[in-house]
Amino acid sequence: MFISSTTPKPQFIVTPLTESHIQAAVICSKRYGFLIRVRSGGHDYEGLSYISHKAFIIIDLVKFQEINVNIADKTAWVQAGATVGQVYYRIAEQSNNTHAFPSGVCPTMGVGGHIGGGGLGFLMRKYGLAADNVVDAYFIDVKGRILNRKSMGEDLFWAIRGGGGASFGVIVAWKINLVPVPAVVTVCNIPKTLEQGATSLFHIWQNVAHKFDRNIFMRTIVQAVGAQKRRTIEVAFQSVFLGTIKELLPLMKISFPELGLGVKDCNEMSWVNSTLSVAGLTGNPVEILLNRSQRTKNYFKGKSDFVQNVISETDLESIWKVMLAQDISPMMIDEPLGGRMDEILESSIPFPHRVGNLYNIQYFMPWQNGSATTRYLEATKRLYNYMTPYVSKSPRASYVNYKDLDLGINHDVNTTYLEARVWGEKYFKGNFLRLATVKSKVDPENFFWNEQSIPPFHGRA
Ligand SMILES: Cc1cc2nc3c(=O)[nH]c(=O)nc-3n(C[C@H](O)[C@H](O)[C@H](O)COP(=O)(O)OP(=O)(O)OC[C@H]3O[C@@H](n4cnc5c(N)ncnc54)[C@H](O)[C@@H]3O)c2cc1C
Repeated sequence: MFISSTTPKPQFIVTPLTESHIQAAVICSKRYGFLIRVRSGGHDYEGLSYISHKAFIIIDLVKFQEINVNIADKTAWVQAGATVGQVYYRIAEQSNNTHAFPSGVCPTMGVGGHIGGGGLGFLMRKYGLAADNVVDAYFIDVKGRILNRKSMGEDLFWAIRGGGGASFGVIVAWKINLVPVPAVVTVCNIPKTLEQGATSLFHIWQNVAHKFDRNIFMRTIVQAVGAQKRRTIEVAFQSVFLGTIKELLPLMKISFPELGLGVKDCNEMSWVNSTLSVAGLTGNPVEILLNRSQRTKNYFKGKSDFVQNVISETDLESIWKVMLAQDISPMMIDEPLGGRMDEILESSIPFPHRVGNLYNIQYFMPWQNGSATTRYLEATKRLYNYMTPYVSKSPRASYVNYKDLDLGINHDVNTTYLEARVWGEKYFKGNFLRLATVKSKVDPENFFWNEQSIPPFHGRA
């Protein structure tokens, strides 16, 4: 986790074995004036689970990995340090491939941070976010008390399901609902370049992907590929359908015939194997989901947007030009909403990006060489700035799990709710006020502080 020698180091790393170790770590760091950074899977986009510029300790939940699946009542208790991949594996194993859990793509993410920020993925059009499917939790508050849903109350239980990890206390475990999946699902991947009609297909995709039958989730990955004269834009149409190829093809013929999806583009497999496929792990045994070590050690920057109006072909062409203008450009990963996401109220949990949004864009820029960081960050900002007219406005919305400190930060523990609205309303819209109100009740002194933690709100808005 500390690939650069300049990264600030903690006073201690606590790896608790029992809840009482977490309670002691909270109480002692409060007494001795250390900040706490809680780490579950360590995938935070800004490193806020293991970096602080003030004296701090890390509570690393790597030993909190237990997963107890209860097939009879279709739920599971998952400890915060378990990874998404471990959860997928255990549910598939114990339900004999009949059940799953709706959450994200990268199997090494921890459920502590991932569900705490929402958790979007290939099942969201059918079942909503990971956080929409949490029914109880164990949580340790600023006083070191262990609380569950009943003892914490509905306001705090609302806030921890999508309000972004780390603002309220330490999540010990989530109780999640399992969701049914068929024995066979179909995975398809169709890459198209500009020369193969990518612009027109992407334009149509924007119109149809959020309206598809909700058993179909089709995302697009847009990136500049090739060198010099052969440099072009490639749009990969990547989908998982909850059913067989035979069931999928007639649906696609009605909804998106222009893509020309055929049997040769599709593979049938179990749902758990589809999670390997979309994570780029095809060919590995499914047990790789149990391996929590990071496979790549890159630098990266992420930013996000929500698109509410279809971008015209002419405007898409100008966006591609910006992506092709230099030798580096972030990729855009576009994930359609609609379906179940449209039915859940904006205020149901802190994640507010529901009906009215066509798709989410993640700008993702990886690089290897630390000395080139500025150039890669500038390229990411350039594309993000160029996208301004095409994405949501007032506020320009972002997704808290793709944490982005460029949106604004808390300079210290005294940053007020009004000051923090500049970034907070981008992630949470109107829910930011309720989050800040909950914070004022459960952590009024703002002990669980970081550069983008929810500030307490003590007055009138
Ligand atoms: C390669 C990659 C792919 C991704 N794909 C997706 C995706 O498909 N869908 C999606 O929605 N997101 C995705 N994400 C984003 C991911 O959901 C967030 O980075 C998430 O916060 C990771 O959780 P974590 O536990 O691994 O991270 P951590 O770095 O451990 O934690 C993230 C934040 O939550 C806090 N936190 C962690 N655990 C706890 C806890 N137990 N109690 C209280 N606070 C806690 C941390 O302090 C930190 O602020 C991806 C990230 C990466 C790097």
